[in-house]
Amino acid sequence: MVYKITEFKISDMYKELRVSFGYMNWWPGESNDEIVIGAILTQQTSWKNVEKAMRMLKKRKMLGLRELSESGIEEIEDAIKASGFYRKKAARLKRISTYVINRYGSLGAFFDNGRDELRKELLAMEGIGMETADAILLYAASKRIFVVDAYTRRIMSRVYGIDPKIGYEELRKIMERGAKRDIRVYKDFHAQIVELGKRNCRRRPLCSGCPLKNRCNLARSVEGTR
Ligand code: SF4
Repeated sequence: MVYKITEFKISDMYKELRVSFGYMNWWPGESNDEIVIGAILTQQTSWKNVEKAMRMLKKRKMLGLRELSESGIEEIEDAIKASGFYRKKAARLKRISTYVINRYGSLGAFFDNGRDELRKELLAMEGIGMETADAILLYAASKRIFVVDAYTRRIMSRVYGIDPKIGYEELRKIMERGAKRDIRVYKDFHAQIVELGKRNCRRRPLCSGCPLKNRCNLARSVEGTR
């Protein structure tokens, strides 16, 4: 299906969010290693739980890919319990850290690859899907790629009538066609979408006070029925 959402509309949507919420300065993390670890820990859990697990990794001097590659799987599991699904996540952390350190020596050398090659290598790792891979690419490797998540799908479907079951790649391309081709914008735009999803566009939307209310299909249709 071809959606007629112009570049103007999507860029404008970003500007409205930016004016309301301010620059978000994402992704939280003091180093690229931390961003990669956070991107895996945040799968299916809240950021609050990720922070607890990261604090424990830091306390045990394991908050880096080299350190994780040299740690035992039980040690990692024990440190990240707060993040939920800790066995799966420990295996994922062990897998990516061992791969990067053994094959490239450092995360920086791994990130010297081109965007598409990197994406292919990340997606080949069990437990790393497109959203996690793209978050790593955008926020840690600084490669220009738009990160799509459940909030993006929900908001774009409510605001512009996009099919909520749209495929990841199709929605990513729509966002990339519409947003300014600038890494800083891509980073901040995704952060703004997450903020809107948490503040207003929840499962049960809080439309009054939403910065997108005037352009939102769903809000208009609800108003029209009153
Ligand atoms: S107006 Fe309501 S439905 Fe539309 S984006 Fe805002 S919160 Fe979501």
